[in-house]
Amino acid sequence: MSRAQNILIVGAGPAGTRAAELLAARGLKPVVVDEASASGGQIYRRQPVGFRRSAKLRYGFEAAKAEALHQSFDNFRDRMDYRPNTGVWSIEGNVAFTFGPEGVGRIPFTALLLCTGGVDRVLPIPGWTLPGAYTLGGSQIALKAQGCAIGKRTAFIGSGPLLYLVAYQYAHAGAKVAAVLDTAGLSDALPVMPYLLAGGKTLLKGLWYQNWIRLNGLCLKRGVRPIAIEGDVRVSGLRYRTAFGRERRVECDAVAFGWGVKPECQLAELAGCDMRYDEMARQWLPESDTEGRSSMTGVYLAGDGAGVMGADAAEYRGELAALAFLADVGEAVDDSRREILKSRLRRLQRFRVALERALPYPEDWAASLPDETIVCRCEGVTAGDIRQSQSLETEEINRAKAFTRVGMGRCQGRMCGIAATEILAREKGIPLAEIGRLRGQAPVKPLHVGVSGKAARNDPERASSI
Ligand SMILES: Cc1cc2nc3c(=O)[nH]c(=O)nc-3n(C[C@H](O)[C@H](O)[C@H](O)COP(=O)(O)OP(=O)(O)OC[C@H]3O[C@@H](n4cnc5c(N)ncnc54)[C@H](O)[C@@H]3O)c2cc1C
Repeated sequence: MSRAQNILIVGAGPAGTRAAELLAARGLKPVVVDEASASGGQIYRRQPVGFRRSAKLRYGFEAAKAEALHQSFDNFRDRMDYRPNTGVWSIEGNVAFTFGPEGVGRIPFTALLLCTGGVDRVLPIPGWTLPGAYTLGGSQIALKAQGCAIGKRTAFIGSGPLLYLVAYQYAHAGAKVAAVLDTAGLSDALPVMPYLLAGGKTLLKGLWYQNWIRLNGLCLKRGVRPIAIEGDVRVSGLRYRTAFGRERRVECDAVAFGWGVKPECQLAELAGCDMRYDEMARQWLPESDTEGRSSMTGVYLAGDGAGVMGADAAEYRGELAALAFLADVGEAVDDSRREILKSRLRRLQRFRVALERALPYPEDWAASLPDETIVCRCEGVTAGDIRQSQSLETEEINRAKAFTRVGMGRCQGRMCGIAATEILAREKGIPLAEIGRLRGQAPVKPLHVGVSGKAARNDPERASSI
């Protein structure tokens, strides 16, 4: 590789921002694309043009960090080729295929930094497709970006840092919180408390949210299990089982649910990166070294898209991947800076491991999901359909896809893939790693008909993959 590169960065969240500003500062002019209308990513998502809520109101404790990151990006904006509202829907060889305000396009690159972040890990529960049921991340986007609540009285259920954070943000903003129901129990957290200390301020903030919820008299229960989101035409309640096995119902017109975040790694897969099964994440992730180099020369990975570690880690990993690229093309880089970043990441990784144990995946979820529950919304595939496919000697999730159409719809398995593999592995009684993963397929994000038609006309030989 040489310095004269077409460098493409996908994603302008914390990871993409730090990578882009470093490369821009070195006089390289990276192309930065993001399907969002402004930089900031998930955590530091900006509000729509014309909205005037203060940073404090939108980001709480993270206001100063959000403003600093936005400012950094804006300072370097004229030294990069920034393309907002531009999504990458496929990568083939050294070309990224995009959709955006100008329609479809292609961006040839010689170096690629994938900073695509994550999305909610969706574990379906009965009733989750009712209007009024949102993921935790979706309910936060409504509040953070547009100042809206998803209902008049919202119940929060699931586990992971977003559960307490979003419930706190709703209550703090004046929305009614019907209950905060954590599937993790205190007994999960207590043994790992000493390791959680590695989280420093992040741990303190998490404890603050939980205490605030309690002190403000909101219903907070741990060790629960969801039974069903109920309602005829939209959500009217949530039934769950307490840690003591009693059935309870909470009245609400909206439910926010979720179990953590999962990396968006389809583009890495399409770019040819080797994937490996990660026991802690319970899924396949693109391989990378400690500085973000993937198995493909010239392809670098940073931020939550390479494995969820949170926003601070995303900033460090973005900078580190850009430094790795510079080192690889023979530029002078500050080795002490690289060591500082790697040491910070090691600390955050210890925290991350402890957090996963304190707020674990609900191991009994796949077995307890009723057959009739929809798992793949796009194709209407139920848990029962996936379970039955195992009698067809399906040992691998892509075979189950062929039999049931799970993951064959618009989201291409981004939403249902995790749940489907968990159900099939449980039904077959074999380790999750052996079930495989739904292979990344283009288009990784839904394209509307006009765009895909135009893409096919411009590029007939690729039409079959759209
Ligand atoms: C919905 C949601 C809400 C969250 N809220 C919080 C929070 O309040 N507090 C907190 O501490 N953590 C939160 N997290 C976690 C936190 O956002 C991440 O740890 C952090 O933002 C990771 O930074 P990143 O740069 O890796 O990715 P992100 O911030 O996710 O940025 C990735 C960017 O890539 C873009 N992108 C992805 N795919 C494509 C594509 N194919 N084409 C073009 N652009 C693409 C996205 O639009 C996005 O802007 C949240 C996560 C999610 C999913």
